[in-house]
Amino acid sequence: MIDPWSSAIVNYEKLIEEFGIKPFHDLLGDLEDPHILMRRGIVFGHRDYGRIVKAIREKTNFAVVTGMMPSGKMHIGHKMIVDQLIWYQEKGAEIYIPIADMESYSARGIDFPEAKNIAIEEYITNYIALGLDPDDKNLHIYLTSENKIVTDLAYKLAKRVNMNEMKAIYGFSGSTNIAHIYAPMIQVADILHPQLEECGGPKPTVVPVGPDQDPHIRLTRDIAERFQSQFKFITPSSTYHRFITGLTGGKMSSSKPKTAIFLSDSPDVALKKLKSAKTGGRESLAEQKKMGGVPEDCVIYEMLLYHLLPSDSQLKEIHQQCREGSIMCGECKAHAAERMKDFFKDLKKKREKAKNKARTILDDELN
Ligand code: SF4
Repeated sequence: MIDPWSSAIVNYEKLIEEFGIKPFHDLLGDLEDPHILMRRGIVFGHRDYGRIVKAIREKTNFAVVTGMMPSGKMHIGHKMIVDQLIWYQEKGAEIYIPIADMESYSARGIDFPEAKNIAIEEYITNYIALGLDPDDKNLHIYLTSENKIVTDLAYKLAKRVNMNEMKAIYGFSGSTNIAHIYAPMIQVADILHPQLEECGGPKPTVVPVGPDQDPHIRLTRDIAERFQSQFKFITPSSTYHRFITGLTGGKMSSSKPKTAIFLSDSPDVALKKLKSAKTGGRESLAEQKKMGGVPEDCVIYEMLLYHLLPSDSQLKEIHQQCREGSIMCGECKAHAAERMKDFFKDLKKKREKAKNKARTILDDELN
């Protein structure tokens, strides 16, 4: 069982084997210009993504849904979702970004006004600063508690879901509060509502997620099929990306500040954090020169891979130099730190600019 509210690290190969997630690389050749995260294997799996490939190639209508639960600060690992959204926006997708304020209330005890504030100041500001076009008419950002289409649909869909099923999927017990038990139904409705007639009717829909969110995807796909004759839903597709490793090893998590570089960190703080990160270097320089480092076990290399180095050839070169011991961690870290500082300097300016737009975007969506 995978618990979407815990932070356990997931064994990716096991997911592919046991839960029927398909390897993403099989589809790479079908995309004209796959996203860098797809090309580099960070987006590693999918369910029914062929429908989305077809829609992109034929330039037909499709939707992307990816929610955010406003419960803390955004860290650099969260940037992966925004990067993918920008790519989908360029492909003409309808983009839906539900802000799961009902879930943060039921699962984390955060009040609605506070959740709204976190969503605006933290998430929406960063999404815009990272490059999502807020003026795209196909972009819909909304609070789930204020979207009546979604809450009504959740209630209708819940008619055909029972408690045994929720227990089996999520491990809910007799002491789980009812609001928490109901919260996944809101997510199911978030994912399926773009296919309602009032939102343009049935269309392929993809949900890019981390593998910890797969229980929601499986439940949604099952429910879409149960209601197929009533709503003509096309079973939603999904993609799965690897998590970024935290600065101390393990998973990067907003609730463990020592593991994370936050997008709101100053360039100097971000730089300092990166310099303290765990590397795949050896005990001594002599040993590293002789045996080489282990880039696969290095947070610095991962930062370059996921975020900081767009050139595949330069990345390959660093990988090779590391493996053969011709580059030492000090030099390599300094290189990554320069890039990190530039990125954070630029982001800081863009965050300032994005703030005003972020404050109005939720009101615009409702009007
Ligand atoms: Fe990581 Fe660079 Fe050291 Fe290799 S040389 S282990 S990539 S920091």
